[in-house]
Amino acid sequence: MENSPQVLMKSMQDEDLIRDFHHVWHPCTQMKDHETVPPLLINRAEGIYLYDREGRRYMDVISSWWVNLFGHNHPGLNQAIKDQLDQMAHVMFAGVTHQPAIDLAEKLVQHTSPGLEKVFYSDNGSTSVEVALKMSLQYWLQTGKPDKTKFVYLKGGYHGETLGALSVCGMSLFRDKFERVLPQNLEVQGPDCLRCPFGLKRESCQAECFEPMAQALEKDHASVAGVILEPLVQGAAGMNMYPPIYLRKLEDACKAQGVHVIYDEVAVGFGRTGSLFVSEHHGLNPDFLCLSKGITSGYLPLAATLTTEKIYQAFYGDYDSFKLFIHSHSYSANPLACAAANETMRLLTEPGFIDGLKPKIKAMNAQGEVLRDLPWCGEFRQTGMIAAVELVQNQETLVPFPVEKRVGYQIFLEGLKREVYLRPLGNVVYFIPPLIIEPDQIEAMMTAAYDSINSVLGK
Ligand code: PMP
Repeated sequence: MENSPQVLMKSMQDEDLIRDFHHVWHPCTQMKDHETVPPLLINRAEGIYLYDREGRRYMDVISSWWVNLFGHNHPGLNQAIKDQLDQMAHVMFAGVTHQPAIDLAEKLVQHTSPGLEKVFYSDNGSTSVEVALKMSLQYWLQTGKPDKTKFVYLKGGYHGETLGALSVCGMSLFRDKFERVLPQNLEVQGPDCLRCPFGLKRESCQAECFEPMAQALEKDHASVAGVILEPLVQGAAGMNMYPPIYLRKLEDACKAQGVHVIYDEVAVGFGRTGSLFVSEHHGLNPDFLCLSKGITSGYLPLAATLTTEKIYQAFYGDYDSFKLFIHSHSYSANPLACAAANETMRLLTEPGFIDGLKPKIKAMNAQGEVLRDLPWCGEFRQTGMIAAVELVQNQETLVPFPVEKRVGYQIFLEGLKREVYLRPLGNVVYFIPPLIIEPDQIEAMMTAAYDSINSVLGK
């Protein structure tokens, strides 16, 4: 059945949607939009599909905000959580530990970059970042460098929306209204490969765009605690992709200047880029690694901040030295979430699983051909299982569509008619599907996106 806007309006007669409209405030949503287009009332999900009460289905091509890896209602993940539930749902994590958290910490250490030895649990991506920022600041305070109080972040960078995370966010959309209360950190122009100011290609450049970062570190290293960035893909900025050489240069500069490297793999970790973790795969050695989202394959909230023995040691001592790290969330290391994460890690590390992504990555690239043909395609880009098409008014000048046009929102509505849940970021239509997506589903996803874009822009 087609999801025409009329059908969507009619469903506003639905008692539950009316109750939702009266009492629920949804994230990142202009609630007035729901006067005309109510939210999808999803009551079942299976594999890569979401189902509403009328049985209409929508392909979850953005993995429910980038969290789902193995599909919805996965028998193994369901069972792992049920088994844990029969043992214990939750227990506080100070003065107490439990098997699921111990097992998970060991696995994360085993599969991330050498040198990352300690795992600090929290419960979402933003908190994993807050933990890294606070640990870095406290490390410098306790090792005789109290003036290191600032962080460097990239324009276009996104690390969550709590105030600390916003203070290292390089997107005005998220930070502008709070600017006046945010800690003053240092924003640096980062990679912008589509509109490269040097006229270079990301496949062959030497990250010439690293220069502003090199200069900032050279000039301000005495006051800089760390640099935070999303390795390879700036997600919220519109799946802005850049080459690993930028990261290699960053690590060299940070090591030389005595500045922490913080990689936020909240979005790109757990197989998304075609390797388990970006930093481990590229032989990188951060001081902090932030993980969340895919960690439980989208089942339950959990996050981990990994760090080195050296940093850990600066907090270790007799109680009256008060060097301890005081940061406590009630649901840190929730056992059910840890059980889901252990099963996620087991599935991800099953022999052949990561290798098995290669044909899917190829299929995404090949099917992306249809999007490259669009007259509004500024660029089709892809890093592993993440792909995006950036729509522009003019392919020569790469002029974007104005925000007021809400091109992305209209494409989202068209996508629903075609059974695909797209949620474009501005003018960027992107795909970050569950890793279990099959080639025929990849084809259906790209074709639906093509048709949706065409029906909005081709008018
Ligand atoms: N860091 C990155 C790179 C993210 O993409 C996100 C979420 N989109 C976050 C941090 C914040 O995660 P959460 O929404 O779980 O707080």
